[in-house]
Amino acid sequence: MGIPGSGLAKGLAVTLKTMTKRSVTAQYPDAQPELPPRSRGVIALFEENCTVCMLCARECPDWCIYIDSHKETVPPAAPGGRERSRNVLDRFAIDFSLCMYCGICIEVCPFDALFWSPEFEYAETDILDLTHERDKLREWMWTVPAPPALDPAAEEPKEIAAARKSAEKAAAARAAQEQDDKQDLKQDLKQDNKQDQKQDQDEGREQRPGEGDA
Ligand code: SF4
Ligand code: SF4
Repeated sequence: MGIPGSGLAKGLAVTLKTMTKRSVTAQYPDAQPELPPRSRGVIALFEENCTVCMLCARECPDWCIYIDSHKETVPPAAPGGRERSRNVLDRFAIDFSLCMYCGICIEVCPFDALFWSPEFEYAETDILDLTHERDKLREWMWTVPAPPALDPAAEEPKEIAAARKSAEKAAAARAAQEQDDKQDLKQDLKQDNKQDQKQDQDEGREQRPGEGDA
């Protein structure tokens, strides 16, 4: 059994200790919290990347992703080619009253169409309003932070390598075209000079007999 009053003394000691420390309470919403950049606030959709493959909706453990789409026929890219069909997104919604923020949908998306945004201020008074449609998910895309810098020793990502190669090819083709244009210009100038010289010589020959007459 402890000494009577020791609990009170301990409590007072804790009070005195914390009284001398700086308060860490953030006065939200007057003061915005400083969240880590990778906070799981809400899921944002970059719909241009979505191919309606349905993987996210199938893998979601809560079945809270709703996707509707229709098929469209795309004309052939080149004459004589085959028509292709593609999925067009009609609806993409997430019910955040069911979502458990596991991040599986973001992990499984093969086309980088889903991202975590640190945005968290989307509380609603009606639970039904927590189902957010594609326009709202798209708006959250602008709050997604830029990806962290790559490790200097990391391999170049294949998308960047492909983009760099095609940019280099285009630059080389442009340089070759410019070179050809310069050569053509030089040849044209040479030809013009030759023609001028020939014309001068012809004019000189025509003038000589006349000089004799004078
Ligand atoms: S975070 Fe998890 S629960 Fe929420 S939508 Fe994605 S897969 Fe479903
Ligand atoms: S997994 Fe990605 S690409 Fe496929 S439907 Fe979901 S968001 Fe769209």
